[in-house]
Amino acid sequence: MFCIHRATLLTPDQQIDDGVLLLEGGRILAVGDARSIAVPAAADCFDAGGLIVAPGFIDLQINGAFGDDFTQHPASIWSVAAGLPRWGVTSFLPTIITSPLEQVAQAQAVLAGGPPAHWRGSLPLGLHCEGPFLNPQKKGAHNPTHLRLPTLDAVAGWTAQNQVKLVTLAPELPGALPVVEALAANGVVVSAGHSMATYREANAGFAAGIRYGTHLFNAMPPLDHREPGLPGALLHTPQLTAGIIPDGIHVHPAVVALAWAAKGARRLNVVTDAMAALGMAPGRYPIADQEVVVTARPDGVHEARLASGTLAGSVLTMDEALRRLIQYTGCSLGEALATLTATPADLLGIGQERGRLQAGAWADLVLLTPALEVVGTFVAGLPCFQSQPD
Ligand code: ZN
Repeated sequence: MFCIHRATLLTPDQQIDDGVLLLEGGRILAVGDARSIAVPAAADCFDAGGLIVAPGFIDLQINGAFGDDFTQHPASIWSVAAGLPRWGVTSFLPTIITSPLEQVAQAQAVLAGGPPAHWRGSLPLGLHCEGPFLNPQKKGAHNPTHLRLPTLDAVAGWTAQNQVKLVTLAPELPGALPVVEALAANGVVVSAGHSMATYREANAGFAAGIRYGTHLFNAMPPLDHREPGLPGALLHTPQLTAGIIPDGIHVHPAVVALAWAAKGARRLNVVTDAMAALGMAPGRYPIADQEVVVTARPDGVHEARLASGTLAGSVLTMDEALRRLIQYTGCSLGEALATLTATPADLLGIGQERGRLQAGAWADLVLLTPALEVVGTFVAGLPCFQSQPD
């Protein structure tokens, strides 16, 4: 049995000072304060005095990292995943963007095949298929030659059991609503994104089973007070969760704060949309079959654009996203953490297993300094990252 004690725990719904976590068999056995939990004498204890311990971060949208792009090379998922714990990410959805459907099938096979021997890292929970059923007018960095209309044939085999957990599509496209219904019936979370949907079309999509909005404000028409469109529908409908990229480039900080005011911690979800340049120097990197130019910015978060100037994902890390969300909105640490942990876990229907410090859940943990720098990450109770002392 392993024990972490003297920590400030953020579950994230609750803050527990002088907190104790007991771990066994990869799971959390008990959570509480030092007075309420008896630590067995045989337990191996780690003193986390001065540190915050929270559930590990869950990123619903990562395109790649360390030079590798998942759409181009689905086989890179496991090696990239091994490096993600350095930013506190303990599970994620590798994202396959618009491309020939064989890329999705290949990625399904990579996940179904399981990790290589002795592998440790951030757990891929299943795929996020962003496209190819997107509106050409809001294609963003997706290659328009691979865009297509949604059909039931095209999504045959896209089930939660077959490794597809989230699908982003444009609900206004002809044929979209039966595909939304079929995916939802197969346990897939369906999301509206890269879309020109009007308020009415967005609501028709929600009625068919859409539960999420992909990178709110990006690749959708702007919020207009007479035609609220997809962003207005996402902000206005309480049961919808919306992803947002708080890198200071994709959405103005003031608009992140407005989205926060409308949705709150239980319905706003921080994603990075990180691409192959994550963890790398500025330069040229792939996204699917296109080239992206990554340049440095004075605030430290690099910027990724196609030659045309279109944003092509981010080079944002989850811990930086956490710090920026607090800076932009003034929310509490517990609230900010929820948008990276409990909220995505609940959306995926795994809120009992991940995203919270609670007895019975997997011991996916991040250890943070008071300045919210990651110093250690555990996945299923195994240490997967530890910062080197200066
Ligand atoms: Zn996108």
